Amino acid sequence: APRALLFGSGFLANLAVVQALLGDDDLCVQDRLNHASLIDAARLAGCRLRRYPHGDAEGALRQLRATPDVAAMVVTDGVFSMDGDVAPLRDLAVLSRSQDALLYVDDAHGVGVIGPEGRGSVAQANLKHTEVPLLLAPMGKAFGGQGALLFGSDALISHVQETARPYLFS
Ligand SMILES: *Cc1c(COP(=O)(O)O)cnc(C)c1O
Repeated sequence: APRALLFGSGFLANLAVVQALLGDDDLCVQDRLNHASLIDAARLAGCRLRRYPHGDAEGALRQLRATPDVAAMVVTDGVFSMDGDVAPLRDLAVLSRSQDALLYVDDAHGVGVIGPEGRGSVAQANLKHTEVPLLLAPMGKAFGGQGALLFGSDALISHVQETARPYLFS
């Protein structure tokens, strides 16, 4: 990806991304089994949170269509922490693009584990950074470290850096 931003933790990064990009009337569509930090991120951002059945890309599409004409984000774990299964990333990428929604993948359990050279679920699905505009690689799981890297375009990363309170004030 063109740019990355380093956070003190994955939890902070998720709070930052959702808050920076979604406001009161906007829509955050999430897999029902997403990590707690993603659910809390949407609650704190004050946006509308809709959760689709686990792994159900059609469900995500239905929820996007049910609330048109707002800024929308589709958010998923890459590898799910409790079941160890992988999100339907190719389907989510296609439907997000078709609905003008931004796809955000948190790959805490994918990086260092699956994909070519351990680059995670997005690389395994053979998706480019343009197809997954925001990708999070927390360092606290397979890497055994601390912190989290957010990957994205120059414009998206700049916006998060300049506006997200969990980045500015921590
Ligand atoms: C562990 C985890 C986080 C939190 O990362 P920390 O760096 O420990 O704050 C975020 N998202 C997912 C999916 C996780 O599994």
